[in-house]
Amino acid sequence: MSGQVLVLGGTGEARRLAAALVAAGVDVLSSLAGRVADPVLPEGDVRVGGFGGAGGLADWLATHRPRAVVDATHPFAARITASAAAAAARHGTPLLRLQRPGWTPGPGDRWTYVDSLDDAARAVHDAGTVFLTTGRQGVAAFAALPGRVLVRAVDPPDGPLPAGAVLLLARGPFTVDEEAALMREHGVDVVVTKDSGGAMTEAKLVAARRLGLPVVLVRRPPLPAGVEVVTTVEAAVTWVTGPG
Ligand code: NAP
Repeated sequence: MSGQVLVLGGTGEARRLAAALVAAGVDVLSSLAGRVADPVLPEGDVRVGGFGGAGGLADWLATHRPRAVVDATHPFAARITASAAAAAARHGTPLLRLQRPGWTPGPGDRWTYVDSLDDAARAVHDAGTVFLTTGRQGVAAFAALPGRVLVRAVDPPDGPLPAGAVLLLARGPFTVDEEAALMREHGVDVVVTKDSGGAMTEAKLVAARRLGLPVVLVRRPPLPAGVEVVTTVEAAVTWVTGPG
């Protein structure tokens, strides 16, 4: 067994975890899917690309024998999270899931939760101008929307865009003032987002509250059963290094 810890990444938390583990003297290998054209690279060693499903990841664990895996992927990256749970269980590798909490509505918020992107598309079908912030891979579910759709993503979306799409390629974080100005400029009537949680992309929700706009949030996919979960980078560092 190597002393290496495999961090499944692609999130700000994963980068912070890699930095904290490197600072604590832990040998870290971060894994990225390779989707983003110009990723911000974590500290420590990095590998890029899929493993080939749960079987491929189990083979990788058998070959590389890391002492632990921390799945710090995005709350909506359900396939790699399922793969990690199955592969770690098959190989007996300790596995921790690091997942930040979802957002919680406050006074003045007009939030509706739905179970899927398709349900979100149905919910906003006749809602006027839609501000879509569901990520590049989620845009296709909204292709049949009849109205104006402001689509914001880091990289160009996969699949077809709605006929009335206005595409905005931009990488956050954005301030509340910037988000509110954008919503006003485009006459946004409703905001659609995944319940990603975290401070980095929260400004749009605060801006929507300020403008009195409704928000449709897609619920997170469920986590695999039996996997230990923490919600902070600090707790993940303690899990790896032991208390004190
Ligand atoms: P996904 O649907 O769960 O994964 C699809 C496939 O991509 C997986 O089956 C796996 O391929 C590969 N993959 C995903 N994450 C990987 C990783 N960290 N290292 C190596 N391979 C990985 O994931 P996704 O939603 O496409 O997300 C891809 C990446 O973007 C993840 O790292 C995630 O943290 C990040 N991200 C996702 C979102 C989002 O909204 N979904 C937002 C921000 C960042 P194999 O089956 O071949 O192993």
